[in-house]
Amino acid sequence: MRDNHLHTHHSYDSDASFKDYLACYDGEIVTTEHFDLSNPYSKQDDVPDYEAYSKEIAELNRFYDNRIKKGIEIGYYQPREADIIAYLADKNFDLKLLSVHHNGINDYLDEEVADMDRHTVISDYLNRLEYAIGRIPADVLAHFDYGFRLFDLSVEELQAYEPQLIRIFQKMIKHNLAFELNAKSMFLYHHEHLYRYALSLVKELGCHRYSIGSDGHLPAHFRLGFDQMATLLKEVGIPKEEVINYQT
Ligand SMILES: [Zn+2]
Ligand SMILES: [Zn+2]
Repeated sequence: MRDNHLHTHHSYDSDASFKDYLACYDGEIVTTEHFDLSNPYSKQDDVPDYEAYSKEIAELNRFYDNRIKKGIEIGYYQPREADIIAYLADKNFDLKLLSVHHNGINDYLDEEVADMDRHTVISDYLNRLEYAIGRIPADVLAHFDYGFRLFDLSVEELQAYEPQLIRIFQKMIKHNLAFELNAKSMFLYHHEHLYRYALSLVKELGCHRYSIGSDGHLPAHFRLGFDQMATLLKEVGIPKEEVINYQT
């Protein structure tokens, strides 16, 4: 199973090298580097240097049998939509993830978000996520729970948002985005139960496109929990053919 969510030093918050990942896996690798405009965490526009990224991959691919693919994780922020579209227009990526990481004031992982009113944070996040789908070209809806990763939520609490979650997942399916199983959310932020609940919703809505990603920023997190993921897919009846790049 290819890890469809991974970062290297081409992302503002990672120091990992391609070789770190290539050394511990002999299949295909795709990195999805952060593209976050007006990032309140770094207080700047975080934009992958496409030239440098492409050059490093081309050089490595000569020695690594073309095992590295190009990807990007697009942090959608409505006020910068035109800039996002302009950046993407003349570039080629094998995989594009769609994320909502911030609201212009806070990244949802900022410590202070943990002390904010949950309902306010979650409903604002879900509104932004619902809007973002279909606004820019993408292949995968990444970490649907990013806006509430810091919250220890029960399935019952999340069910309060079910009508909106259903709209979000319907829009995701309509725009042919894959639903991401994000290992970091599931196993490091302990949201596996929320993913199981979301999976039951997306399956019922007719989703046939899934993506598995570690969201790793360092080698120790590469392909995190992938054996458990494979078991989970079997358990909930998702065939391999519905997981993008399962065989690579
Ligand atoms: Zn992300
Ligand atoms: Zn990521």
